[in-house]
Amino acid sequence: MNILIFGPNGSGKGTQGAIVQEKYNIAHIESGAIFRKNIGGGTELGKQAKEYIDRGDLVPDDITIPMILDRLKEDDCKDGWLLDGFPRNKVQAETLSKALHNENIKLDYVIEIILDRAVAKIRITGRRLCENDNNHPNHIAFDAIKPVEKDGELVCRVCGGALSARPDDQDDEAIDKRHDIYYDENSGTMAAVNFFKGHSDATKVISIDGSPSIGAVTDEIMAAL
Ligand code: AMP
Repeated sequence: MNILIFGPNGSGKGTQGAIVQEKYNIAHIESGAIFRKNIGGGTELGKQAKEYIDRGDLVPDDITIPMILDRLKEDDCKDGWLLDGFPRNKVQAETLSKALHNENIKLDYVIEIILDRAVAKIRITGRRLCENDNNHPNHIAFDAIKPVEKDGELVCRVCGGALSARPDDQDDEAIDKRHDIYYDENSGTMAAVNFFKGHSDATKVISIDGSPSIGAVTDEIMAAL
């Protein structure tokens, strides 16, 4: 099964993506996480991407598109994948669609998590990243996924790992810029979502309200898949 998942930063897209990926045992490809790993490892790609990410800008297409298309050719993608954070604009959507068509790969589902911009912004600043696994959900404002306290420090509620906040999640301007890009229907991420709506009968687009609890959103997604 091949799936794209869309949602504004703060919509729970990463959390839901991890649940879907685990259930269907498919590769979970997160463009943002790939960049962060490269930044952490000090690679050339990381150095190129860092300044864009810190500002909340998109990393240029000539870096991002080949990175993702190459990743999709890796062995673990043969039995299916869930792509999170890509495509992020219309050009990426068109390029991905063409590449899949050329390789005869079917895109089965597009999941769109819908969330009001102001609500998404509130959710972003409280989320925390676990050093052991980015997909362990931790958020200081939500009881269901609140980190736990250990020796006076907040640690991951799943594994006890150390937590950090993404710099671009604590920067007001970077958050606004990322949301400007997401909600842009002309050339941004919403243009990419709309590109897939009605583009091919073979792809089912599932639009889900992201405002209820994590479990309720998961139930909606699972019922639709
Ligand atoms: P995310 O973890 O999805 O919020 O992504 C973090 C940052 O990585 C974004 O704000 C962008 O700077 C960069 N990024 C992630 N995915 C893409 C993409 N598809 N195209 C360009 N830049 C991206």
